[in-house]
Amino acid sequence: MLLIGSHVGMSGKEMFLGSVKEALSYEANTFMVYTGAPQNTRRKELSELRIPEALALMKEAGIEQFIVHAPYIINLGNAVNSSTYELAVEFLEKEIARSAGMGSHILVLHPGSHVGEGKETGIRKITEGLNQVLTADTPVCVALETMAGKGSEIGSRLEELAEIYEKTIHSEKLRVCLDTCHMHDAGYDVVHDFDGILTAFDKLFGISQIAAVHLNDSKNPCGARKDRHANLGDGYIGFDALSYIAHHPVLADVPKILETPYIPLPENPDKKVPPYKEEIRLLRRDVS
Ligand code: FE
Ligand code: FE
Ligand code: ZN
Repeated sequence: MLLIGSHVGMSGKEMFLGSVKEALSYEANTFMVYTGAPQNTRRKELSELRIPEALALMKEAGIEQFIVHAPYIINLGNAVNSSTYELAVEFLEKEIARSAGMGSHILVLHPGSHVGEGKETGIRKITEGLNQVLTADTPVCVALETMAGKGSEIGSRLEELAEIYEKTIHSEKLRVCLDTCHMHDAGYDVVHDFDGILTAFDKLFGISQIAAVHLNDSKNPCGARKDRHANLGDGYIGFDALSYIAHHPVLADVPKILETPYIPLPENPDKKVPPYKEEIRLLRRDVS
């Protein structure tokens, strides 16, 4: 069965229990969650997240795996501002503990931005941070996300992620998260040559290192380095290419996660609603 879900929220009284309910409302069989607002580091205690109830509901519904995404403000690549870097290291440690406490084995992380110091310095800083945090006993894997390459982002080339692997002592704790919008924006031909991308990936990492796929269309042409997600079929990648990826046999056991934008209601454009139930249905129906 197609392993598909979306990112879901975690807030209010229900917290993580609400996340699972949201995923089920989209008829998803996996999901991705932020442990709080992705833009800040305010986080509730694990004891306040209603984890046992959430896990019980997941079990009942047959959801076996989900993914946690670290907040954007974690930038391990920052060699300029040491307090940003230190905050990133400290917060990454906490996010790993939180992910494990919630029952996830995968924490998705944007590798970081070099903020003007160049890729070499950025990559060195990122691996320094990972080496500070990852040990043989780290209970989750950190999945480095492929990036669009906007600003000074590191990770728009698979080779950059491979370099991080190479320099990380406990690289057995690393994985990769492929974001289709980001790869397309970074110049990879996701539309016509996804298998070529998989072959290149396999040479660098081994296919088993793909821990998650972010399935998004893109508002911009290939190579635009913009990172603006579009709904499936509304962008430059197109539904057929995205469906091909979703149903790719090599990725059968890899969670596919939608991060597509909310859609304004035709009768009330100020109100936006999640597209996930519909997009999941469209993908499930497309078994050609
Ligand atoms: Fe991301
Ligand atoms: Fe993503
Ligand atoms: Zn993105």
